[in-house]
Amino acid sequence: MTHRMRFETAAIHAGQDPEPTTGSAVVPIFQTSTYAQDGVGVHKGYEYSRTDNPTRHALETCLAAIEGAGHARAFGSGMAAISTLAMTLRSGARVLLATDVYGGTYRLFSKVLTDFGISFATVDMTDLDAVRNAAGDGVDLMLVETPGNPMLKILDLEGLAEIAHAAGGQLAVDNTFATMYLQRPLDFGADVVTYSGTKYLGGHSDLVAGSLATNDDSLAERLRFLQNSIGAIPGPFDSWLLLRGLKTLGIRMRAHTAGAARIAAWLAERDDVVAVNYPGLEGFAGHDLARKQMSAQGEPLFGGMVSFEASSEERALAICEGTEVFFLAESLGGVESLIEHPGRMTHASLAGSGIEVSPALVRLSVGIEHPDDLIADLERAMGGK
Ligand SMILES: *Cc1c(COP(=O)(O)O)cnc(C)c1O
Repeated sequence: MTHRMRFETAAIHAGQDPEPTTGSAVVPIFQTSTYAQDGVGVHKGYEYSRTDNPTRHALETCLAAIEGAGHARAFGSGMAAISTLAMTLRSGARVLLATDVYGGTYRLFSKVLTDFGISFATVDMTDLDAVRNAAGDGVDLMLVETPGNPMLKILDLEGLAEIAHAAGGQLAVDNTFATMYLQRPLDFGADVVTYSGTKYLGGHSDLVAGSLATNDDSLAERLRFLQNSIGAIPGPFDSWLLLRGLKTLGIRMRAHTAGAARIAAWLAERDDVVAVNYPGLEGFAGHDLARKQMSAQGEPLFGGMVSFEASSEERALAICEGTEVFFLAESLGGVESLIEHPGRMTHASLAGSGIEVSPALVRLSVGIEHPDDLIADLERAMGGK
């Protein structure tokens, strides 16, 4: 194809030409570790499946195309992707993390990488002056998430990229919540984008994977080297499942967003709800920034994650345990709706840290079931009001 394909087309076609020997319309699962060579060093581009595999190659081609990025690499999990990115740093490096980064990311930097001489600080990245101050002594990498978890805080990506670059560092954005359908961090100046493919990209709660994307050729070369050297790759079957998931990412994100927007508006009307966190609500602190950063086909779309504060911890726990359509579970981004209590589940490790979440907070990952059924389920769990 000569012109650059749009998202919806690239998701289905990029890297996915019919298979040449059979015409198979779907990229096969090349479940092989090695490849017969025609002569010593004479091969068809594949030597060993840690280094490259045709199914993973198709996935990486598609991931780069839908990101609008020059390069993408797939990994065995979101944490494998972030760990490999961290291996681009050297001993003595300084890292700034947003205060609400994924717990596993915080654990990696606080309990693993400090042993390798990589230091980090956490900063409230909604406050650009605070970020500028923290970056003052130089920074090698800033790693942020927007919308944040679980408060859905929105960060100014252009502002953060400018600060990172002025300090001589790079900006990495974990785009797991928004996905590249709704938000393209590279367009706002980010240097690298990271994903847990386990969530929306796969979309069906049936795989664990991750990825990185960048336009920086030298960073991409280093990541390719590290991907092969460290070896935290996804196998052919998980690569295939993820590639299959990407085909419907756009329509799924639209359905997630439509359901979440309705539920957020419904929650905001209830007088037993203290606060609703959803970037699509007018009045939400990051709404204007989210309008600028999150859209598809020119239409602002705010994603499928919602959190709200109930009137007490007891109420929050009762709501989490009272739904039937919403499964009580960690994780997010699948077609099925999930409900959870961050204070005791995903964010329990923050207890005593000074940045713990409200014990009355409830987080929803709104699936693509009919929104009427989801609202009826919440109404049953919350009681008529
Ligand atoms: C789940 C998640 C991760 C970690 O991904 P895994 O696939 O579980 O390793 C990283 N960042 C965010 C925002 C996540 O939600």
